Amino acid sequence: MSLTCWLTFHKSFCLASISPFFWHVSDLHLDPTYHLTDDHTKVCASSKGANASNPGPFGDFLCDSPYQLILSAFKYMKNSQQPASFMIWTGDSPPHVPVKELSTQTVINIIGNMSSTLRSFFPDLQVFPVLGNHDYWPQDQLPPAASEVYNAVANFWKPWLTEEAISTFQKGGFYTQLFHSSMSSQPLRIISLNTNLYYSPNIVTLNLTDPAEQLAWLESVLEISLQKKEKVYIIGHVPVGYLPYARYITAIRRYYNERLIKIFRKYSAVIAGQFFGHTHRDSIMILLDEKAKPINSLFVAPAVTPVKSRLQKLSNNPGVRLYQYDPFNYSLLDIWQFYMDLRDANKRNESNWKLEYILTKAYGIEDLKPESLYGMAKQFSVPHSKQFQQYYRHYFVNYNTSVVCNKHCKTSHMCAIQYLDHLAPGRAQRTKEPQEGHTGRRLAFVSG
Ligand SMILES: [Zn+2]
Repeated sequence: MSLTCWLTFHKSFCLASISPFFWHVSDLHLDPTYHLTDDHTKVCASSKGANASNPGPFGDFLCDSPYQLILSAFKYMKNSQQPASFMIWTGDSPPHVPVKELSTQTVINIIGNMSSTLRSFFPDLQVFPVLGNHDYWPQDQLPPAASEVYNAVANFWKPWLTEEAISTFQKGGFYTQLFHSSMSSQPLRIISLNTNLYYSPNIVTLNLTDPAEQLAWLESVLEISLQKKEKVYIIGHVPVGYLPYARYITAIRRYYNERLIKIFRKYSAVIAGQFFGHTHRDSIMILLDEKAKPINSLFVAPAVTPVKSRLQKLSNNPGVRLYQYDPFNYSLLDIWQFYMDLRDANKRNESNWKLEYILTKAYGIEDLKPESLYGMAKQFSVPHSKQFQQYYRHYFVNYNTSVVCNKHCKTSHMCAIQYLDHLAPGRAQRTKEPQEGHTGRRLAFVSG
């Protein structure tokens, strides 16, 4: 039994629970050039020559993370003294800068730096890492075969991964590994996918039906899990499903999305949760079966980096989260989402990480099971739903608490929450949907 208390702006929440937790961090995007200077065009390489908006010690909304921001996040997690069974880390360590400003070696160095920083804060914690589309040079071009980057990263991650996991990782950037819980006789299986192989801007995998044979491998792992009655968490960087802010557009090529979703439907009984990053925003998806019954819960965690492009109106505050799970069957019980109010932290020159929301309390649901989330989505769909307004604020991690999602915006979000593929049951016919095969390019720009 553990007792932990979190202080929020209004009150403190104490957590006395026998149910264990795990951490999820994503999209650190360290910008090593970040420094405070009077010339705001020179604060960080990731602003690409634009004036940083209001730079301070913890960063700026036009810049990727200063080292100090990442350290403050890890320090807050460590100081919380919240016992966690493990951590998932869903990728993207290097900054958003033009390709020519990085190299294979600098990308490797940054991933190495972030891996050892994480290990220095949590030396005894099991971490399950994932590669992101920026964890390669040139960015997005992750290959379906062995590479210098996969090899170097495998070495950084050896303290966390088994020999078998390292061996598949070196060949294609993915792995599976068991987590043995002291509370359950049944271990949890983690499957870390390299969904960057399916990411639309990846031209190395164009025309390939099964890059690195990851899909065949995934099916065989899930088949064994089914036979052994295991429970599985899927972790990846680029999520499956539709982008919440742009209708009809999937983050990965549609061909791969359809195939992955088909596999996830077939093995939904063994998959107890799916966890992604990449969009830098906080969102939820529910996988429905052919009869429109909710069968899987998927979560996209917001980024640590607060960066946005000059043209974007909104960004996200830095965030990290805890999931609470049932130690016996690994079903998901709750999310504790934490964030830094970046403007306030910079103004006071002081780290101010705090609890943003507890998911079951924010949306009035029992737990994170697919049926519960589906009930939540039904509540959201009511016109002027207060809960949906809250979801939309959380989507940007309280970047702007008075932000409003109009009718068109809400339709996109509601579709992304409930419909993950072209054939999703109950999904309205999308006659205007752009035609795109597995060789097609995505139509919108995603920074990721
Ligand atoms: Zn990213």
